[in-house]
Amino acid sequence: MGLSLRDPSLLKDQCFIGGTWIGVPEVDVTDPASGEKIAAVPNFAARETRQAIETADRALPEWRSRTAAQRSAILRRWFEAIVDATEDLALILSSEQGKPIAEARSEITYAASFIEWFAEEGKRTYGEVIPSPRADARIVVIQQPIGVTAAITPWNFPAAMITRKAGPALAAGCTMVLKPAMQTPLTALALAALAQRSGIPDGVFNVVTGRARDIGGELTSNPTVRKISFTGSTEVGRLLLQQGAATVKKMSMELGGNAPFIVFDDADIDAAVEGAMLSKYRNSGQTCVCVNRIYVQRSVLDEFVAKLAKAAAGLRVGRGTDAGVTQGPLIDAAAVSKVEEHVADALAKGAKLALGGKRHTLGGTFFEPTVLVDCSADMLVAHEETFGPVASIFAFDEEEEALRLANASEFGLAGYFYSRDIGRVWRVAEALECGMVGINTGLISNEVSPFGGIKQSGIGREGASHGISEYLEVKYLCMAGV
Ligand code: ADP
Repeated sequence: MGLSLRDPSLLKDQCFIGGTWIGVPEVDVTDPASGEKIAAVPNFAARETRQAIETADRALPEWRSRTAAQRSAILRRWFEAIVDATEDLALILSSEQGKPIAEARSEITYAASFIEWFAEEGKRTYGEVIPSPRADARIVVIQQPIGVTAAITPWNFPAAMITRKAGPALAAGCTMVLKPAMQTPLTALALAALAQRSGIPDGVFNVVTGRARDIGGELTSNPTVRKISFTGSTEVGRLLLQQGAATVKKMSMELGGNAPFIVFDDADIDAAVEGAMLSKYRNSGQTCVCVNRIYVQRSVLDEFVAKLAKAAAGLRVGRGTDAGVTQGPLIDAAAVSKVEEHVADALAKGAKLALGGKRHTLGGTFFEPTVLVDCSADMLVAHEETFGPVASIFAFDEEEEALRLANASEFGLAGYFYSRDIGRVWRVAEALECGMVGINTGLISNEVSPFGGIKQSGIGREGASHGISEYLEVKYLCMAGV
């Protein structure tokens, strides 16, 4: 445990159930930059998950019956505790996940923003009064917390994917059992420690680490759990949807993407390069809204490629906690193999390298920032999320062609385009088949906007006022005899 934290008690090696830290640390958590062990966490399975669900169920009546303002005050303290612990949380996050420390700090700020936002939104879960078709009746609609909820989160945003679910759930009056990714459980446990200190009552927020299949099996089959919120791969999302069908659970799914990024000939090319850099290489290309396919209109292709390759060559690859590093390692060996496979497939089918293309000389799971040109629709990079630092560039001639190519995907999470023509901006924004569109920007995520996908990228929205609806049930009261 070599992390030098200001508050070493934030580094937890036990699970958090019912306000108690339990379990034997068994599974190592390693630093992807070095392979070194940071700590270990329990390898819990179905039995402990059931215990966590029962605890969350017992805590529910009291938490639900508090006023929204009371819950809000406690969540506000959690928000402030996260902000105050930014440096320690960022260090834990960067060490277990690999992203540069500056990106880790930004993620903590982003993560905290969901707690603050939903602490406020919890006070605004308004109902309705609907004009009645009957003279003797009045129609009233109220919103109530759905009950015990479960969250299953990925490793690419070890803090934000948790607060984006726990914030609205707790603000709405629900309790939660969280299963974080086993690559990055330490950030989740540190957040739980801060939740406890902030006065979140025992049992309201619980964290279980261990065997994904067993924990997921219990969370999806236990009838007490009324809602599952998942962020991860489409493959696991489909499985959870199937498993949850037996008990008809409400489900939110944030799944894979395959984001197109279109650069039209009227774009500000320097701005487009800047947006592509942010959206492609952030987190080493390991975000679900990362650009996967870059479509550039032929007349501006050479300029765009030259400028992007130059900018990407300026990235500094290294250990995320080292000063000046702007691109960390990939999460594990499997991630590197997938990136290698995508590059090899593209080269075999006629693509060319404008930059990079192989494992970095640093070894381990480091990969060179890469730019591929002359990509085509038959390549893996066109169909699958590469989830690595590879910018795949495709040429196009007409607006209709760009839209057809961009929409030729089973996914529909984020899309981006650069244009200064107002008519084109509206046409393309409306025609892109995705849940979120970045227009002249590569950065779209924040707590006030509804994040989510269409097609096989997901169900439901997180953030904005929509985010809390996912944790509320609508109840209609028909009040007759007036
Ligand atoms: P990734 O490819 O990003 O790791 P996954 O979908 O595999 O995405 O992982 C996202 C989350 O889903 C992680 O917390 C992981 O442990 C969990 N997970 C993976 N398989 C299952 C499963 N069978 N049941 C429940 N959760 C699972």
